[in-house]
Amino acid sequence: MQNLAAFDRMFPTDDACKEYIVAKRWPDGVKCPRCHRKEGVYALKARPFHWACKNKDCGGRNGYRFSVITHTIFQDTKIPLKLWFKVGFLMLTAKKGVSSLQVRRMVFGEYSGTDWRTCWYICHRWRAAMKGDAISLAGEIEVDETYVGGKEKNKHVSHRKHVGTGGAGKVAVIGAIARKGMVVAKVIENTDTATLDGFVHSAVGPKVSLVATDEYAGYRLLGRDLPHGVVRHATGQYVVGAVHTNTIEGFWSLLKRGIMGSYHKVSKDYLPLYVNEFSWRYNNRRNPNAFADLITTCSN
Ligand SMILES: [Zn+2]
Repeated sequence: MQNLAAFDRMFPTDDACKEYIVAKRWPDGVKCPRCHRKEGVYALKARPFHWACKNKDCGGRNGYRFSVITHTIFQDTKIPLKLWFKVGFLMLTAKKGVSSLQVRRMVFGEYSGTDWRTCWYICHRWRAAMKGDAISLAGEIEVDETYVGGKEKNKHVSHRKHVGTGGAGKVAVIGAIARKGMVVAKVIENTDTATLDGFVHSAVGPKVSLVATDEYAGYRLLGRDLPHGVVRHATGQYVVGAVHTNTIEGFWSLLKRGIMGSYHKVSKDYLPLYVNEFSWRYNNRRNPNAFADLITTCSN
């Protein structure tokens, strides 16, 4: 991934951004966002980056008109795409995440009329786009849950996990991580066996060789059809051969430090978006085309 100066040179104007979106969104030619066909789509000569779909069952004779940003996260925006791109780039490269206040300071200085709500909205649209494709983990996997929010004094005490979701303001997040690979994480309503079981089975693929968890009862059925290994944290056991949960715990601390450091307070409604953001960044940490991929994702 390049630095911000190189990024700015790549996208000096809104048209440069639009050309880039066209290339990533429609690598095989412009498709109608409504009927998903290339045939019957005509460029509007008077309006650059606008097209009309004249397929009979879609736009008909008058044509269904769309632009490069129709059905994307940028839809209806009045903010220059240049700025959107810059914010997306910052979010990708800032390992600990960035808050909308930081974004405003870093990016919007030249657009002083922009208030924090706009920054906040743009950041959230990007986070929503960072949903990513369904990932199927292979090899050695670690699974763990964590709780975000709640009282400060409970935050660092890993032994006080598994208290259910009853803790004041705490929200449960479940995650599965392949060692040296990718992470899958999501906010869950409760930590019962059915929920945990369902999550693990959806996250791991057939090539899983180990599912390491702690002794929490919610994981007790995993061994029925998966190679389940358990470390008993309650008795001070943290590593038994290949069985440990250090990798996923590293990811949790990245998420929690990021949320506390940059966002201060994350409401329950938005936590899934932050989980998206941190997972996406983690999964693309070695991807030189991360930004290109993000543009492809957010326009599909
Ligand atoms: Zn169409």
